[in-house]
Amino acid sequence: MQHSPLTLYNSLSRSLEPFQPLDPEKGARVYTCGPTVYNYQHIGNMRAFIFADTLGRVLRWKGYALSHVINITDVGHLTSDADAGEDKMERAAAAQARSIWEIAAHYTEAFKRDVERLNITPPMLWSVATDHIGEMIAFAKKIAPEHCYEIESGLYFDHTTVPDYGKLAGGQDDAGENRIDPVSGKRHPQDFAIWRKSPPGEQRQMEWDSPWGKGAPGWHLECSVMSIKYLGAPFDIHTGGIDHREIHHPNEIAQNQAWCGCSDSGAHFWMHNNFLVDRTGKMSKSKGGFTTLQVLIDAGVHPLAYRLMCISAHYRSELEFSPENLAAALTRLKRLVMTVTALKARAEGEGTAPAPWIKRLDEAVSDDLNTPRALPVLDELLAEKSLSPADRLAALAEFDAVLGLDLLGLDRNDLRVRPASAALTAEDIEARLAERKEARAAKDFARSDAIRDELAASGVEVMDGDPLGWDWRPTL
Ligand code: AMP
Ligand code: ZN
Repeated sequence: MQHSPLTLYNSLSRSLEPFQPLDPEKGARVYTCGPTVYNYQHIGNMRAFIFADTLGRVLRWKGYALSHVINITDVGHLTSDADAGEDKMERAAAAQARSIWEIAAHYTEAFKRDVERLNITPPMLWSVATDHIGEMIAFAKKIAPEHCYEIESGLYFDHTTVPDYGKLAGGQDDAGENRIDPVSGKRHPQDFAIWRKSPPGEQRQMEWDSPWGKGAPGWHLECSVMSIKYLGAPFDIHTGGIDHREIHHPNEIAQNQAWCGCSDSGAHFWMHNNFLVDRTGKMSKSKGGFTTLQVLIDAGVHPLAYRLMCISAHYRSELEFSPENLAAALTRLKRLVMTVTALKARAEGEGTAPAPWIKRLDEAVSDDLNTPRALPVLDELLAEKSLSPADRLAALAEFDAVLGLDLLGLDRNDLRVRPASAALTAEDIEARLAERKEARAAKDFARSDAIRDELAASGVEVMDGDPLGWDWRPTL
């Protein structure tokens, strides 16, 4: 089949551009900024990986060989985008009295479990930042003479040494303005850390020797180093959440330019998914109280309902997470699965995917991955009485390949996810916790303990002082 030309939105030019691999022999080379593993990923983070997976699926479906790398940030991410302050990994380790390596392993594993449950295709490589410290130091040594300066706290990149710094951020000086940066000695607010020296007298769990003293890399460095190492420079597409358009990716671009001694950004396309928001704004790890995929599953929601909710919106639109939206997606998924089950019962033999339907799917996703346009086509296809059930199922396999909903694999039983705390609703639990808080405030510890025990008996563990900020978790 002749595929439609693929058009993708490039944040660098702020426009839709036709996609062609830079090197047809190498296929499509894609790098995705991965998780920071000092905590669980929330469902907003997972939206970013569902987006990257949709891109990868479309590229493969269209016949490109795909080389996809996602990094695991297990070092160097500070408590904000600034260059000073605690390392998030070190902080989580201290709070949980675990070693930093245990923290990283625990959250990496939890993340990969969510990847699997969302039917996200694992990349060619998960590249782990701490496996590449030597290469980061070599990279820094190469760019340091012309682009960096050393101050007491570390080695910094002088952003004025590269052309068009911050072009990706839209020409505004957002990056500088947003940065409330306490680092003294920096030449400009936009300059950023390449290497952060360990503060004198402080023993960090993660630190390495370098020409600039013991310390750890700045967190932008890993992505330049690992993307160039595994994909070459320039490669085809770099993805991440839209927050990275302002600081992290402009800094990566600056590093890439310094490394190649040219004005090339390092990737042909820079693509960004918009945020998952809730009523209080952007879902973020630092805000606490965020929702994980596990929380949805515990509430009885199949993870692919969340995937369906995500792809019902365009990746460049903000998406509001609400119980109502999620319930609607779950209902839609159930309806789809029931329709497919009925078709399977009636299908005879192998079908053939009818070309006009595949063309409609292709046109939708070729238009900057327009999945919300593809979904109604799927509904129409399944209901198209003029097609035999077997032909409809054959076409469905193509939709599954592109959208990742696994409609051919799911059956009704899969969708019966038992809520973890079936005995009590979330509202009941919150109400009891509020009563307990009052009792504690009034120093009525007998009553507060009684409420805790009562909740425990209903399968709810109260989590006082949990470092991750969880009030409770289901134990059933
Ligand atoms: P992090 O682990 O915080 O580095 O985030 C992993 C990915 O999730 C990055 O690409 C972020 O840009 C993205 N991300 C973070 N918060 C959200 C959100 N609320 N909605 C969508 N993507 C997000
Ligand atoms: Zn990155």
